[in-house]
Amino acid sequence: MSKCDYHEIKNILDSGEVIVISSHVAPDGDNIGSMLGLGLSLISAGKSVFMINQDEVPSDYMFLKGVEKILKYEDIEDFDSINPDAVILLDTSSIERVGKKLEDVYNNISCPIINIDHHRTNTNFGAVNCVEHTSATGELVYKIITNLGLPMNKEIASAIYVAINTDTGRFQYDSVDSNTHVIAANLISLGVEAGKINTELYQNISIKRQTLHNKVLGNTEYYEDNKIAVALVTLDLMKETDTKTEDTEGLVETLRNIAPVEVAVLIKEKACGEYKISIRTKSYADASVICSKFNGGGHIKAAGCTIFSDLNNAKNLIIKAVKDEINEKRCSGN
Ligand code: 5GP
Ligand code: MN
Repeated sequence: MSKCDYHEIKNILDSGEVIVISSHVAPDGDNIGSMLGLGLSLISAGKSVFMINQDEVPSDYMFLKGVEKILKYEDIEDFDSINPDAVILLDTSSIERVGKKLEDVYNNISCPIINIDHHRTNTNFGAVNCVEHTSATGELVYKIITNLGLPMNKEIASAIYVAINTDTGRFQYDSVDSNTHVIAANLISLGVEAGKINTELYQNISIKRQTLHNKVLGNTEYYEDNKIAVALVTLDLMKETDTKTEDTEGLVETLRNIAPVEVAVLIKEKACGEYKISIRTKSYADASVICSKFNGGGHIKAAGCTIFSDLNNAKNLIIKAVKDEINEKRCSGN
């Protein structure tokens, strides 16, 4: 953990004009909400801001005002001509997490990188590191905006609300403390329409996505006395249901909701021999310990990694790692 030094961040932002903001591949709500919240605030403060991700914004977040300002790296004609005074990476535990192309750019950039994140596995790669174990990166964005006296309005508040709401599983995880609720209350005071946002986020599932979920959940396998649930999303099934990666959102949490399940595992086929794994844990198992065995990372109860192997082997490897973690924690009395 590296506590946020607001003066350091202020000095860099005050002396700069052009700011680039990015976050991790396969964007989620904390990624998009944090980028948009900070980006819109800096635009209102008169900065020239470029919000750039490797992957496109998932349709789930397209209702947010200003979200079209978040661009895909591929759509930027000439990154070199942007010539930023500072780069801000949000919700990104290590530079590789921005994706290969942006990683190459940021590894060779001469301006300072400001690293703002809440992952325990953060590598402190920035010139400035604001890494605190808040419930969401959105909380850190809120604290930076308020501590630096940056502009705040309903649109900025709504983006930050989405970041916090989605990364806390709608305010249900252990990571939520009284501060999280105080921030959410302040955001609502600024005009955030919480009910409307929750409808947009959670009562808006396409039939295609629901069909994918039904099929994937229908083939769930259970191991270790039902303590482990494993489900698989193949490229064939996504083709058959005409869905995209973003349509797998929520599946692994549904598996964890099942009473005896301690560890939920979702295996997503990315390409032949490449499997993205999402892990969610309930009480005592540590998801980040499991994923760090495969060069991944994340939080105690939510983490991810990629395994390069054939399906059978990938599945066996991850199940073995999950069993080891469950037995290790059980033996140590947790
Ligand atoms: P998800 O399963 O939703 O992709 O990710 C859960 C959490 O783990 C998120 O906080 C995400 O940033 C992190 N995460 C997912 N995949 C990886 C990975 O390959 N490497 C690292 N370091 N973190 C990951
Ligand atoms: Mn996050």
